[in-house]
Amino acid sequence: MAELVIRNARITNEANSFSADIEVNQGIITAICALGTAGAGEVEIDANGLDVLPGCIDMHVHFNDPGFIHREDFASGTRAAAAGGITMVVDMPLAGKPTVINTEAVLAKKNAVASKAYVDYCIWGGLVDNNIGEMAAMAKEGIAGFKAFMADAGPDFPFVQNDVLLAGMLKAKQLGSLIALHCEDDKLVKYLEEQEQSRGNTDVPAFLRSRPPYTETIAVNTAVTLAAAAGARVHICHASLAASVAIVEAARDKAPAITIETCPHYLVLDTEDFKAIGPVAKCSPPIRSREEVEALWGKVFDGSLDVIGSDHSPSTCDEKEAGKGNIWQAWGGINGVQTMIPLLLEEGVRKRGLPLKRLVQLVSANPAKILGIYPRKGTIQVGSDADFTLIDREGDWEITKESLYYKNRHSPYFGKKGKGKVVATIVRGRLVYHDEKIIGNPGFGRYIEVKN
Ligand SMILES: [Zn+2]
Repeated sequence: MAELVIRNARITNEANSFSADIEVNQGIITAICALGTAGAGEVEIDANGLDVLPGCIDMHVHFNDPGFIHREDFASGTRAAAAGGITMVVDMPLAGKPTVINTEAVLAKKNAVASKAYVDYCIWGGLVDNNIGEMAAMAKEGIAGFKAFMADAGPDFPFVQNDVLLAGMLKAKQLGSLIALHCEDDKLVKYLEEQEQSRGNTDVPAFLRSRPPYTETIAVNTAVTLAAAAGARVHICHASLAASVAIVEAARDKAPAITIETCPHYLVLDTEDFKAIGPVAKCSPPIRSREEVEALWGKVFDGSLDVIGSDHSPSTCDEKEAGKGNIWQAWGGINGVQTMIPLLLEEGVRKRGLPLKRLVQLVSANPAKILGIYPRKGTIQVGSDADFTLIDREGDWEITKESLYYKNRHSPYFGKKGKGKVVATIVRGRLVYHDEKIIGNPGFGRYIEVKN
């Protein structure tokens, strides 16, 4: 008897869509067979009327564990992920203590989170201004790659200048590893911030003026130029502009190994929303104009964007409230791991007619390929991990405080309603989330080693 059988599954991979029954044993897909032909299962799910997608992978979360677990920890973060249809997350190296910039810190993080994860996970290491000598040993630990900042990310995670960035890219290439980049120009942002602050400007428009589009595109241009020079695999994180995607697209012949990500908030919220919502919608790069939002959707549709990740960046509610009268005082970062898939189903698939296959590519197949774990993950085929996201395209949702599993339940999307609901999240054959309940266990989620 199979461990799990899913009947009447309408399966959508990035390249094909078909209906079948699925058999799972030992966490692996062992058969995909004609409707009505699967054997009996210890657990059986009837997916009639539902879409079954390869488990969604969020390459960009900050779960703050260990160190700042009053903001989020691996248990609360991966529960929220499971409730949002995410079967694997990749955690960023900078929002915890210690920051993950050497092997000791990699081991400390693995140790701290192993007993807490509800879904599978990997971690990013950090590339900072003085740790190139650590990269080889860190890569051996199976990390996803190395995240670097081109703009200030605080004293515990020193950002890199172009010399170190180039050296880091060359080292990553030698190791077969990947560099992930936050692209904003540090000097320009600091200068513009000082200009605004010296004039006593403290509102949302002042914050927006301190990070205009060119502060992002200048950095993306530099990143792409250096990536081409180094021949390195580089992943541009959280691009907020169609122009950033266009820069990558134009460089693909010289630098085929560059990929680029955006986040749901850049596709859903615009500057008018930000002004209305206030500090809860503060992030960097910032929320852009409606024109920019729609241009970015163009890149979602035309195939040039590679990934959508949440950049889930939790804080306490107080750290957001602190910016009510003065936006500079607010935490920068948006909660989003739980709401990403429903928002994309509503805003992309239902409202704009985004093909489900393209969504699968952006949130499952491409992340798996970039991480080097495809086809183990990112597709529904025999031999792959039995990770599934079951959605009801007709299912209604509303984002409320009560619906969130975050440790600190703030969101820029409160009151938002839509269609396209996560019904079940299955990780390696095990139901982790079903019918609005977390039913998995902490510690079930496994560290997925990236082999370069
Ligand atoms: Zn981030």
